[in-house]
Amino acid sequence: MEKYPVLEVDLKKLRKNTKIVTNICAENGISVAGIIKGFGGIIEGAYEMAEGGCAQIGSSRIEQLKALKDKNIKTPLLLVRIPMACEIEEVVRYSDICLVSEKETLVMLDEEARRQNKKYKAVLMYDLGDLREGVFTREELVNLAMFTEYELQNIELEGVGSNLSCYGSVAPTIKNLTELSEAAAQIEKQLGRKLNIVSGGGTTTLPLLMRGGVPEKINHLRIGEGIANTQDLPLYWDTYIEGLDADTFVLKAQIIEINEKPTHPIGELMVNAFGEHAHYDDRGIRKRAIVALGNQDLGDSSKLVPKDKLIKVLGASSDHTILDIHDSKEHYKLGDIVEFNVLYQAMLFTSLSDFVSKKIIN
Ligand SMILES: *Cc1c(COP(=O)(O)O)cnc(C)c1O
Repeated sequence: MEKYPVLEVDLKKLRKNTKIVTNICAENGISVAGIIKGFGGIIEGAYEMAEGGCAQIGSSRIEQLKALKDKNIKTPLLLVRIPMACEIEEVVRYSDICLVSEKETLVMLDEEARRQNKKYKAVLMYDLGDLREGVFTREELVNLAMFTEYELQNIELEGVGSNLSCYGSVAPTIKNLTELSEAAAQIEKQLGRKLNIVSGGGTTTLPLLMRGGVPEKINHLRIGEGIANTQDLPLYWDTYIEGLDADTFVLKAQIIEINEKPTHPIGELMVNAFGEHAHYDDRGIRKRAIVALGNQDLGDSSKLVPKDKLIKVLGASSDHTILDIHDSKEHYKLGDIVEFNVLYQAMLFTSLSDFVSKKIIN
């Protein structure tokens, strides 16, 4: 018997999406690192991204890159979270290139690369206002670049990059990416050579690219969500890319109760399972279903999109997700399967949950 909940990964769709995104980027002189952390680093998915034209495969977690290195993947591996001191040995062993923002980290990487008799590549991060990682001024960035180029024997300065719209919700714009371009140009001038990578962000730079606003000097993006999870771009960024398939990851869950109940809880209202004061609309008595899936698997049930558009997700506790099926044309019964698209957070959580089976569709 099939086990539920199950997260189905359609490899053909993932490859097609990768090709569409890497082609659009290539037309703009941009190479793509395919980022696999959003789907738990599923190895088959990483291979599709590599086959689909990604120049590197990247993750924030060295464990996910190690799994690929152990399989002897040919594509260079990029660590996108600036490294911890405790993982330097593994970083140098299992990846080829990483993002860095601290001089001390560069020194540790250099020493470790020497120990492993390796050349290791670094992309220096410049904070353009999102206030996550990166040095904060152009002067610091230039100094760090000179230090890497001239003081470190086993680290190759591969380029510079920036990260946007992660912590500070700052959108990539012509203005902030022009600052990155100009900083890169200044470094190249001082070095007397070109940088291989000027990395202008992740999926959230795609909307600007589609509108033609990414400065020419930007030649690299790090994209996971925009390939694996394509409903986020139209939903949050008002950006439509033709041909992208929203069904690369589909979550299926089984109905464990069907009932007609009031929509407003009965009794004195306190807080829900997660200590929140929730709001409940009184919509009278409605038909609803419970599926065996919860925020323990998902993070947050509001990041589920039922494929049956007439179903509404009412909410979830750790192990139960409650659906309003009153308006649906389907006649759901106990034991039936309900299908969902997953937004980024739900894709991330379900792909990592031991309680959600994974099914790879070739
Ligand atoms: C996660 C991450 C990315 C990729 O983000 P997506 O939204 O999946 O495209 C790029 N760069 C860094 C530094 C990241 O941490």
